[in-house]
Amino acid sequence: MQAKIRVGVLGATGVVGQRFVEALAGHPWFELTALTASEASAGRRYGDACRWLLSSDMPAGVAEMPVQATAATIDCQLVFSALPAEQAGPAEEAFAAAGYGVFSNASAHRRDADVPLLIPEVNPEHLALIEVQRARRGWERGFIVTNPNCSAVMLTVALAPLHMRFGVRSVLVTTMQGLSGAGYPGLSALDALDNVIPYVNGEEEKMSFEPRKMLGRLVDGGVEPAGFAVSAHCNRVPAREGHLETVSVALQAPATPQAVTHAWREWQPLPQQLQLPSAPQPPLVVRPEADRPQTRLDRDAGRGMAISVGRVRACDVLDIKFVALGHNTVRGAAGASVLNAELMLAKGMI
Ligand code: NAP
Repeated sequence: MQAKIRVGVLGATGVVGQRFVEALAGHPWFELTALTASEASAGRRYGDACRWLLSSDMPAGVAEMPVQATAATIDCQLVFSALPAEQAGPAEEAFAAAGYGVFSNASAHRRDADVPLLIPEVNPEHLALIEVQRARRGWERGFIVTNPNCSAVMLTVALAPLHMRFGVRSVLVTTMQGLSGAGYPGLSALDALDNVIPYVNGEEEKMSFEPRKMLGRLVDGGVEPAGFAVSAHCNRVPAREGHLETVSVALQAPATPQAVTHAWREWQPLPQQLQLPSAPQPPLVVRPEADRPQTRLDRDAGRGMAISVGRVRACDVLDIKFVALGHNTVRGAAGASVLNAELMLAKGMI
């Protein structure tokens, strides 16, 4: 058996950082050897520095690990970054320049032309950008790969088989995003409870840009974005975890609701073919009930990695409408990053 690859988590005490710690405990290919956070946490035991928020127990042994400052000297080969966007920009570049492979959750590098914005089921070929990135930035071994925003992932996974089969012309999407999407402690209870807030800072811009980059084509060392527009309304709702989205799509070729359901059901992309450890089987769970998917009932499908879709019907304004749901801190964050790393390892790129 090959030795496991040593990995670290940057921003390990936060909401997403904890999901990384959970996902990496007992991982068949990766061994967690380093945890970092802000200067305020550095030097403390993880068990003291971190207010553990997950329903699973903190994995054995992790509480005793030291939290280190976020510097490119930690003992590992790959890092998973759950840093706030402002810190992530320069820190992730410093890690990549020092030879680490960086898998980032932050938005800082998602728009960079030479950085793959990756969903392994959707655009594995975009990993070719890593060679462009290394050549441009003078990095020999290091690299940055990002995963999408926690709302963009549901939409993009649901659209991918439809875009391949019918061609997407335009999209209207309304999100209902859980509170954990704002990090910890996030909104105050007095703002969040008994309320819907029709604004999530920066989210609508990400929803307009990211699906088009991921569904775009590799051309001349960059990505030509897919040629459709996305109009997004993003709302914060008082669910703890899970982002639910209602979507209307105009398609280039006509499609019935049955044809859309068929395209989703028969989709068997690369991570599922390779049976990557974190790949959900199936990637899209099609719910037949009239009132599903629902946030509380369906967010944990496929151990939080599957996207649930349902309520497919004809749209009187565009062509087709449906509901999509996913787990924002698993499929929308830590699980997505771990799957990205698994894909690169399976392809011999690490
Ligand atoms: P969070 O709960 O606020 O956690 C932030 C983490 O970063 C903590 O570990 C914190 O350490 C550390 N940190 C803060 N300032 C730092 C600094 N100056 N230097 C080094 N470390 C610092 O945030 P989160 O929700 O986990 O989000 C983390 C990242 O993932 C963000 O970029 C976010 O946009 C992205 N993201 C979040 C979600 C989600 O659903 N929450 C989904 C996708 C992507 P201390 O404990 O020491 O302060």
